[in-house]
Amino acid sequence: MKLATFTGANGLRLGRVQGDQIIDLAEVTGGRLPAEILTFLQQGEEAMEIAREVVPGDIGTLALSEVTLLAPVPAPPKVVAIGLNYMDHCREGGHEPPETPVIFTKFPTSVIGPGATVRWDPELTQKVDYEVELAVIMGRVARRVPAAEALDYVAGYTVGNDISARDLQFGDGQWVRGKSLDTFCPLGPWLVTRDEIPDPHDLALRCQVNGTVLQDSTTAEMIFGVPELIEFITRAFTLLPGDVIMTGTPHGVGVSRSPQVFLQDGDVVTAEVGGLGQLTNACVEECLS
Ligand code: ZN
Repeated sequence: MKLATFTGANGLRLGRVQGDQIIDLAEVTGGRLPAEILTFLQQGEEAMEIAREVVPGDIGTLALSEVTLLAPVPAPPKVVAIGLNYMDHCREGGHEPPETPVIFTKFPTSVIGPGATVRWDPELTQKVDYEVELAVIMGRVARRVPAAEALDYVAGYTVGNDISARDLQFGDGQWVRGKSLDTFCPLGPWLVTRDEIPDPHDLALRCQVNGTVLQDSTTAEMIFGVPELIEFITRAFTLLPGDVIMTGTPHGVGVSRSPQVFLQDGDVVTAEVGGLGQLTNACVEECLS
């Protein structure tokens, strides 16, 4: 099942995508399901089952082309991101693979959806990079969860693009500013539920800029898999329904290329994960001072 947050005539809604249609879950169930995904996820497996059973009909079914998709979770409680989690990415950067996961954060205010614009002030950064990632969306409160049970806590997956201002990331001595600029966390196009992705470590990953493929790898290159990441993270802090884990990027990022490639005003970047869809965003430089 594919779940998407969209705006239509009735404002912000939660829908199930089926082919070229989207079913407004609150509308079609007469309000049994909420219109907002965090509330939906908090209702757990029961709400998932109701959503699976709805069928397209005259009421509450829209053409996908007529709605605007937002990030599947437009306002996650938090976004936890993992650095240096791909063997091929460590090699290209000349890094030793980490012995434990490298964790940082992207603020929820950086989240945007498919088709939205990545924006930055050229007086703040001139080294904006792309990073295609498998993004995990949590479905349950998770605290000290062992790896063997961790996937039971996952609602599903989406495509993430961990946009990074490399000059701020490495100039600050701390990554959070360079990773958290407004619009720097595109997510989408939808949440694909866990049951459709039996192995999250066997998915193709690609990133294209203006149609040129710059990243082309697979989640099999991940150093710490999704269950190990959830165990490691939840030993330290609680994950909530709707929290997002950005699981790291493979090789091919702009900062490690020779010559280096950075996103420019007018570029179009498409991140793609096999089975999850494509996430396309245009880039705009805007001087704010
Ligand atoms: Zn990343």
